[in-house]
Amino acid sequence: MNIILMGLPGAGKGTQAERIVKEFGIPHISTGDMFRAAVKNETPLGLEAKSYMDKGLLVPDEIVIGIVRERLAMDDCAKGFLLDGFPRTVPQAEALTATLKELGREIDHVININVRRELLIERLTGRWICPICGASYHTLFNPPKEAGVCDKDGGKLFQRDDDKPEVVAQRLDVNIAQTQPLIDYYVEQGLLRNINGEQDIQVVFAEITSVLRG
Ligand code: AMP
Repeated sequence: MNIILMGLPGAGKGTQAERIVKEFGIPHISTGDMFRAAVKNETPLGLEAKSYMDKGLLVPDEIVIGIVRERLAMDDCAKGFLLDGFPRTVPQAEALTATLKELGREIDHVININVRRELLIERLTGRWICPICGASYHTLFNPPKEAGVCDKDGGKLFQRDDDKPEVVAQRLDVNIAQTQPLIDYYVEQGLLRNINGEQDIQVVFAEITSVLRG
């Protein structure tokens, strides 16, 4: 089962990825995780990737394509894989198609978890932090007993700059613009399946497995 998982920040991609790889016994290939590991281990790849990641830029296609190519050729991918965070550009998607063809394989499903922009903003901006003890709350998922006040020490909760609505909206818009050509590419290939990510985690997962088993 060769799968690509797509979804904007806050759509629940990480949660679903974890469940899918467990259910189907396939490796989770996240290019973001691979780059973070390379940065942490200070490998030549990590040093190069870091300069882009720190600026919030995409790592150049040829570098990303190179590491994914190597990864897909590994033994544990023989039964399938879940790609997460790759492809991010149409040249990456085209290179993936070509690489898989060389290996005599192809993508089976592209799952796109959809959540409306307003709801993503609500999910992503809900985090509030206590300046005294560092405890983290979420207005929707883990609210403090009294709004704006830490349960443990009464600290006045604050919002990190990058969780503020205007910053989050900007990050989402960049992501939406980057993702659209890829969505178009996979629609054209007849591979894209949209899943409503506004439902319960279990329901989203059930819909994904039903598509994958379909
Ligand atoms: P992520 O965790 O997927 O958001 O990735 C973290 C960072 O790694 C991104 O902001 C990019 O700098 C880099 N990165 C991850 N995947 C890719 C990709 N497919 N193409 C280019 N850059 C990537």
